[in-house]
Amino acid sequence: MQASAQEAGLDNVLLVNSCAVTAEAVRQTRQAIRKAKREHPDRRIVVSGCAAQIEPETFARMHEVDFVIGNGDKLAAPAYAGLNFGLETAEKIRVNDIMSVTETAGHMVEGMAGRTRAFVQVQNGCDHRCTFCIIPFGRGPSRSVPMGAVVDQVRALVDNGYLEVVLTGVDLTSYGPDLPGRPVLGQLVQEILGRVPDLPRLRISSIDCIEVDEALIDAFGSETRLMPHLHLSLQSGADMILKRMKRRHLRDQAIVFCQRMQKVRPDMVFGADLIAGFPTETDEMFEDTVSILGECNIVYAHIFPYSPRPGTPAARMPQVDGAIIKQRAKALRQAGQRANHDFMGSLVGSRQTVLLERENLGRTAQFAQVHIMGDPTAAAGTLAEIAVLARHGAGLVGQIVGEGSLKS
Ligand code: SF4
Repeated sequence: MQASAQEAGLDNVLLVNSCAVTAEAVRQTRQAIRKAKREHPDRRIVVSGCAAQIEPETFARMHEVDFVIGNGDKLAAPAYAGLNFGLETAEKIRVNDIMSVTETAGHMVEGMAGRTRAFVQVQNGCDHRCTFCIIPFGRGPSRSVPMGAVVDQVRALVDNGYLEVVLTGVDLTSYGPDLPGRPVLGQLVQEILGRVPDLPRLRISSIDCIEVDEALIDAFGSETRLMPHLHLSLQSGADMILKRMKRRHLRDQAIVFCQRMQKVRPDMVFGADLIAGFPTETDEMFEDTVSILGECNIVYAHIFPYSPRPGTPAARMPQVDGAIIKQRAKALRQAGQRANHDFMGSLVGSRQTVLLERENLGRTAQFAQVHIMGDPTAAAGTLAEIAVLARHGAGLVGQIVGEGSLKS
């Protein structure tokens, strides 16, 4: 966005990329905008992102905001060209119908200075309609970046010194059907690893377990450069709730998937998104969500207390009492924390290869965060072998003992 605005000759602006995933995210975005204006009263503020796409008026009405640009246009210089500041609310909005967007541009090679891990968006948008989710209205239909463009981008990142690439997307496992030859995500992964042999680490971000293709499972079994860590969009452990959410998997399918993946790749670990207090959720259904943590071996749980998004079907279903939602979210977080601590504790005394980042932090192949003892600043941006000394909160403390290998 910054590069596009600069290309259009726009300077002295603050760009805000808003999030719409929960009502709280929208509230925080508005708060951040007010704070930014207080701190930089002379700067113009241009807002884009999902919340700006879904409810442009909310932002255009803020006197701190000078312009609202749609999600589909935010990465193109013309969207920033000729912005006329000082306009009335309705004229501040430049937002097109996101449902008509069909392109996803490859991007992001520049502007990531100082990081050791690069994120490459290979897919955008979503054709599903989970009943709690507003995202498709912010991101539009599912569309994929062609394999060749992704490979070129990964190669450029490796040439720029990045050691780890994370493939991201709104609905990553929907990658491909809009492209010629209809490639699947597993083929893309194999293509990247085959064509960019110097890439030490490739990681997959959040996936839908029911959509995972056989080529991806094979890649996990045969490619040690593919990191043994998957984040699953599980949302609930109760079949009735999964149906009411319009998810595409059932509880047992998620469990069977995790068991299979751990057979294919014994060091595989899982994270998951789970919602507490979805409409109509009973105590029993909630217990099914707590127990799926153990059944699926989830060690990185992301817990969301349900909050209705206006305009979604779930917002019109019978709601669970707010105090109960809070309680359940807390209980689920505690259960997730216990699983995380057990996992981290099991690593104490082991040797791990860690990608060293800034500020004495690194990540193991299984995505455990490690605080490095001593001063590893000089080694930032390299792989190192560490001895794990202790668990520290949700992460580890370790000491460098040698140069890293590609094995986890
Ligand atoms: S799969 Fe469901 S939760 Fe995920 S972005 Fe699409 S509609 Fe939202």
